[in-house]
Amino acid sequence: MSECFRVENLSYSYPTEEGAAPHRALDHISFSVEEGSFVAILGHNGSGKSTLAKMLSLILFPDEGSVWLRGRNMSTDDITEEDVLRARREVGMAFQNPDNQIVATVVEEDVAFGPENLGLPPEEIRRRVDEALAMVGMTEYARHAPHKLSGGQKQRVAIAGIIAMRRSCIIFDESTAMLDPVGRREVMDIIEKLNREEHITVLHITHYMTEAVRADRVIVMDRGHILMDGTPREVFSQPEKLWAAHLDVPQTTELLYAMRQHGLDVQLDIFDPDECASEIAAAISRR
Ligand code: ADP
Ligand code: MG
Repeated sequence: MSECFRVENLSYSYPTEEGAAPHRALDHISFSVEEGSFVAILGHNGSGKSTLAKMLSLILFPDEGSVWLRGRNMSTDDITEEDVLRARREVGMAFQNPDNQIVATVVEEDVAFGPENLGLPPEEIRRRVDEALAMVGMTEYARHAPHKLSGGQKQRVAIAGIIAMRRSCIIFDESTAMLDPVGRREVMDIIEKLNREEHITVLHITHYMTEAVRADRVIVMDRGHILMDGTPREVFSQPEKLWAAHLDVPQTTELLYAMRQHGLDVQLDIFDPDECASEIAAAISRR
């Protein structure tokens, strides 16, 4: 297994007004992400998730510590602007509001925008646009106006634009946050498919526990630190720690926790409602 991202002892403070004490958005963070993995990042508002995403996509640069992309330290003095531009082409970012990500008045033109800027030949652009639209299930909307689409569909078009750029890692910064439940499910299914079928490394920042349980690994941030890091089962079997960081746990875990408080001997790390029901039934029959 090779490494996609690594950060070592990473710290960052946003510039503040003169005289004000600098506020650390990231405080000595270290971790690495394997190529091809699917990592969910959770954390209360202001915990540093977006700042971290901007560091990993080389939009912001650390005050202290280093960011490594595919074994290359991007934070040394001998890294040139050209190195940074090249590295940025490997990492795609998708944001919360799809309206801010769509630039064209026709869906396929929007998806073509990035590849056109790469100066690719027209037939290659056509191929990439068709492929990307098919991947997000938006082929039939190729000639439509983006502003008439639903939030979920717009977000899928924005993701198609990233796919057309052939990014091998994509950071989704709350890309499901503004969507209705249907749109959220559509986008989440695409995120999962990009990871499982296209082997794209995915970092998915989200507030939805139902999404986090679908990742291979969950990193929980709290006030610029990493509070927890493990598989969904490892992380969500410690609900008290998550509640203390003002975070939710999956509803199944919450129910199982309440059952435990009532003296039922159940596991907490079950996220599927059917499995949860069986666990409770089995615990009752053991009584
Ligand atoms: P999250 O994405 O987890 O909500 P952010 O990374 O956006 O957190 O923010 C981390 C901290 O940095 C917060 O305290 C926030 O107020 C501060 N911050 C974020 N962006 C800026 C900025 N552009 N200027 C000053 N402070 C910022
Ligand atoms: Mg954020």
